[in-house]
Amino acid sequence: MERRRSVYMDYAATTPVRPEVLEAMAPYFSERFGNPSSLYALAREAKEAVEEARGRAAAAIGADPGEVFFTAGGTEADNWAIKGTALRGKGDHIVTSAIEHHAVIHPCRALEKQGYRVTYLPVDEFGRVDPADAEDAIADETILVSVMAANNEIGTIQPIRAIADIAHDHGVPFHTDAVQAIGAYPVDVDDMGADLLALSAHKFGGPKGAGALYIRRGTRVGTFMDGGAQERGRRAGTENVPGIVGLGRAIDLATADIEGHSRRLAAMRDRLIRGILDDIPDTRLNGHPVERLANNVSVAFRYVEGESILLLLDALGIAASTGSACTSASLEPSHVLTACGLPHEEAHGSLRLTLGSRNTEEDVDYVLSVLPGVIGRLRDISPLRGEA
Ligand SMILES: *Cc1c(COP(=O)(O)O)cnc(C)c1O
Repeated sequence: MERRRSVYMDYAATTPVRPEVLEAMAPYFSERFGNPSSLYALAREAKEAVEEARGRAAAAIGADPGEVFFTAGGTEADNWAIKGTALRGKGDHIVTSAIEHHAVIHPCRALEKQGYRVTYLPVDEFGRVDPADAEDAIADETILVSVMAANNEIGTIQPIRAIADIAHDHGVPFHTDAVQAIGAYPVDVDDMGADLLALSAHKFGGPKGAGALYIRRGTRVGTFMDGGAQERGRRAGTENVPGIVGLGRAIDLATADIEGHSRRLAAMRDRLIRGILDDIPDTRLNGHPVERLANNVSVAFRYVEGESILLLLDALGIAASTGSACTSASLEPSHVLTACGLPHEEAHGSLRLTLGSRNTEEDVDYVLSVLPGVIGRLRDISPLRGEA
């Protein structure tokens, strides 16, 4: 076996802050510490930095700066889009998909407890929503359609524009959780037909706890965080100035060379997928074979448990995931994999490897050299084996 390495393949969970981003943020913790709402030069400096970041974020997604509102991350942006629409909407029905991130599913569940009705659109075996199902689901009372741009567990990219067009035909606003899409492929709010769009800095080389909600001008969304007049009175709370500066710098860098970056990652992804499927029997690819994120490898191994795979990989220096970081502590099988029709025992045996800027071909070689042994060992001791 090869010498032990240290390999991080969990970029869908979080990414390291880029050195240039950290450098841009640093002064706003120390000498430029001013509160943007105050009235002196130090404060204006901070205010200008926030507005510069807003301009960068807006440019990256084809929006006007006045349509970008900073939040404390992707979860807050999704909550704001959904609960904020409910606050202002005139109906009580929401359409979303069965494979959304918990940042969308759980606010929907919370609204259900308050009497709202939610339709969770099914997906096919590759994790794709059929736009025709969205058409069927929309009713007179529908106030929002929310479908994610790209899935964090299986990497499937959704036919967002078709779904948005259907929502608009019925006069319903369209929200998309684009947290995994930013930096992975070009994102443009007009091309996507998004009225609301959530993004998160730590998924593209920025800091944790900084995100944004794009709100198309004229979209009715209630205020979600009440307090001071920050963010034009729509999201109260002293701005996370260093985080916002980091978001602005990171989104610039992440969208500068999307094509070259994703081509490099896709080559490594494809080598991993082919190597795993060729070398390990009773294995299948989760998600869509083509319409998938360039950095996502998600595979299901029969007769083994995802958590045991992670433990053995961790001992070999490899950081990976079974799917969503939020579900990995629970014994429930992933709602995404079960929505794709995987039987529970296969959903339990899934492994997600997500690639990023620091990965190399040597990392791929290392994973491919150790993984067959890991799966083989687990299958040798598996009580599930032979039942089939
Ligand atoms: C990570 C993630 C979120 C949550 O973003 P945070 O900034 O971590 O709160 C939401 N949606 C998707 C698809 C994600 O991958």
